[in-house]
Amino acid sequence: MTAEDPFTTCPTCHNNEYIECPECQGERIVHCLLCNGTGKNRETGARCLQCGGDGKTRCLRCNGVGEIRCPDCRSARVLGA
Ligand SMILES: [Zn+2]
Ligand SMILES: [Zn+2]
Ligand SMILES: [Zn+2]
Repeated sequence: MTAEDPFTTCPTCHNNEYIECPECQGERIVHCLLCNGTGKNRETGARCLQCGGDGKTRCLRCNGVGEIRCPDCRSARVLGA
């Protein structure tokens, strides 16, 4: 039995390098924070300028990709290189 290097396989992404975005769960879009997903400005009732009225906005965490780079991979990549 060879001693297993705990960093050989990333426990977070299994060496996929990317994981599902925790902010939007891979949906790529999140509820607009400005209007809370209603699409309307809370004070004026006018169309929300942030999301254009659909109550959804592109997830900034993953830039609308739905995945983010695995945060645990940096050390793993170094050791695996
Ligand atoms: Zn996201
Ligand atoms: Zn909005
Ligand atoms: Zn990883």
